[in-house]
Amino acid sequence: MTDRDPDCLFCRIVAGEIPSDRVHEDDEVIAFRDIAPQAPTHVLIIPRRHVADLHDLTDADAALLGSLFGAARRIADDEGLERGYRIVSNVGAESGQSVFHLHLHLLGGRPMTWPPG
Ligand code: AMP
Repeated sequence: MTDRDPDCLFCRIVAGEIPSDRVHEDDEVIAFRDIAPQAPTHVLIIPRRHVADLHDLTDADAALLGSLFGAARRIADDEGLERGYRIVSNVGAESGQSVFHLHLHLLGGRPMTWPPG
């Protein structure tokens, strides 16, 4: 697996070639505000390394999953989302995934409905 796909929008955001409003970064993960927010807080949490989606992870990626969800927890605290929030990750075109670089959507700051569309 390559670390970077030169045609990938989020790889270009990781590299700083496309600007983003970053709220978190560490060795494995960065997080930035969604450009089209669907809630008062809408942050995307992504691995620095190019992975198309959650389904492409393997058992060897357990630490990366921990880093992604650990970042989500810290950002939720920073954003004051103690009333609740939602984490979504679309996998594949039929789910609605439009950027094929693994990302968690962290959404909060308003009441949510279920089921999603
Ligand atoms: P998905 O449809 O699950 O693949 O989510 C992709 C998300 O990326 C969407 O919510 C878009 O609004 C968001 N997005 C696309 N381009 C950018 C960008 N340049 N900066 C921040 N978010 C973006």
